[in-house]
Amino acid sequence: MTAQLLAGAPAAAALLAATAERARALSRPPGLALVRVGDDPASASYVRGKDRRAREAGLRSTVYALPEETSQTELLSLLADLNAAPDVDGILVQLPLPPHLDAAAVLRAVDPAKDVDGFHPCNVGELWSGRPGLTPCTPAGVMALLAHYGIPVAGRRAAVVGRSLIVGRPMAALLLAADATVTLAHRQTPDLGAVTREAELLVVAAGQPHLITPEMVRPGAVVVDVGINRVVDGSGAAHLTGDVHPAVAGVASALTPVPGGVGPMTVAALLANTVAAAERRSALPVCP
Ligand code: NAD
Repeated sequence: MTAQLLAGAPAAAALLAATAERARALSRPPGLALVRVGDDPASASYVRGKDRRAREAGLRSTVYALPEETSQTELLSLLADLNAAPDVDGILVQLPLPPHLDAAAVLRAVDPAKDVDGFHPCNVGELWSGRPGLTPCTPAGVMALLAHYGIPVAGRRAAVVGRSLIVGRPMAALLLAADATVTLAHRQTPDLGAVTREAELLVVAAGQPHLITPEMVRPGAVVVDVGINRVVDGSGAAHLTGDVHPAVAGVASALTPVPGGVGPMTVAALLANTVAAAERRSALPVCP
């Protein structure tokens, strides 16, 4: 068997086009505030990409690039201003933050109705309650990718490898909400292969290059590789690789490539969240 490659570009383009159309239907362009602190080049590059995509989709995007020495009080003060600004519908704080800042407290300070990353405990609770809300972008992008390719989720046995707050846990919650029977595996799971071989739908977000080998995959399974790992080959050249060994394409019925699979879906899902926040902000539940 050679797996169908689930390319992210066409699915992301479709989601971006639908998002741009929804943005045009609003009385004013949805506003997105992108906040980053410090000089991390990867964070700066991610924020630039999000800003460019947002503008292309017709959103009004503003980048707040704060210096490394920004204090917790200064950052919380900016967030309070953005929470109160009527023309800001979505707020994203780019992670990681410099170590002197309390990231959990910062994420809690974002108005849940504007929390387009879906990391506020209020939105995490909504997600695990099975109620629609703002959901973390990468897992939301995976669900959009599966929908784009017509891959059914309901009633299937699914396994998620990785339990981070950003990918693994919300991924499991979204699959559960879509009526899959879900197992969530992690670093302490004994016999990972026994878990993954059960799965008709396998999502891997461990950050371990080629963790999943062909013997660990059920023949005909759909495999989603969220991992993005920078590896250096024998010649010293760096390249990106996933958590799934390429030979899994000989066992799976469908597989996302790395790069070019889940990656493009994350930004598209962020913009869809921002438009959803603009559409529904006043109707969302608010934590006390
Ligand atoms: P993380 O380090 O926060 O979490 C990794 C999880 O994998 C942990 O729960 C850990 O228990 C589990 N894990 C690690 N090694 C394992 C093993 N050998 N067996 C079983 N479980 C194991 O990472 P993260 O932020 O969730 O990211 C995971 C991967 O996804 C990374 O490669 C990251 O770069 C990538 N990522 C991609 C996107 C995207 O847009 N495509 C977005 C976010 C993260």
